[in-house]
Amino acid sequence: MQFQRLRLVGFKSFVDPAEVHIESGLTGVVGPNGCGKSNVLESLRWVMGANSAKAMRGQGMDDVIFAGAAGRPPRSHAEVSLTIDNAARRAPQPFTDSPVLEVSRRIDRGQGSTYRINGKEVRARDVQLLFADASTGANSPALVRQGQISELIAAKPQNRRRILEEAGGVAGLHTRRHEAELRLKAAETNLDRLDDIGRELE
Ligand code: ATP
Repeated sequence: MQFQRLRLVGFKSFVDPAEVHIESGLTGVVGPNGCGKSNVLESLRWVMGANSAKAMRGQGMDDVIFAGAAGRPPRSHAEVSLTIDNAARRAPQPFTDSPVLEVSRRIDRGQGSTYRINGKEVRARDVQLLFADASTGANSPALVRQGQISELIAAKPQNRRRILEEAGGVAGLHTRRHEAELRLKAAETNLDRLDDIGRELE
């Protein structure tokens, strides 16, 4: 899946709609200090389902909404959309046959986020799994933020393993295994309960 275009509205310093075209190959973001380079990278992580406000350099998730500047009032919502080329039909059902995917996340102040894929409302988990299965995602090592290389060198082996798993595309499988284990446990509890009721009726 090739990222094609990133659109930001009211996200951090991007109060006016801004569009970034992503060409194939390595992409670097350059510009003077404080112009919003890290904000662009964060918007990409955010639309892919990042759920840590700290990773977005904020106290709460509402901090990603434009907070106001000289002569510009704060905004009540922020939205980021990512257009992805799905020519190889790698997207999961029901989006497999769409040649292009438009993944968007919107946050309204005090009301949390909503996610959409091609206009259809989906859960955060659906978006996170879509990117995890494609070996990318909010924590993907393909997005290199400031200080990340030295963090990686100093990281504990378990944390480095997590990065390799993400790169290998197995992170989504771990999530699914965890969910299957929870469902299995719930089924076992129900069976125990059935046994108890059966014994009471004997
Ligand atoms: P550097 O090169 O110094 O790392 P940068 O180009 O990466 O800088 P960013 O850190 O992306 O810049 O952007 C910082 C700017 O974004 C600051 O001016 C900050 O005030 C602004 N900013 C961050 N969050 C918001 C927000 N919620 N509303 C308005 N402006 C914001």
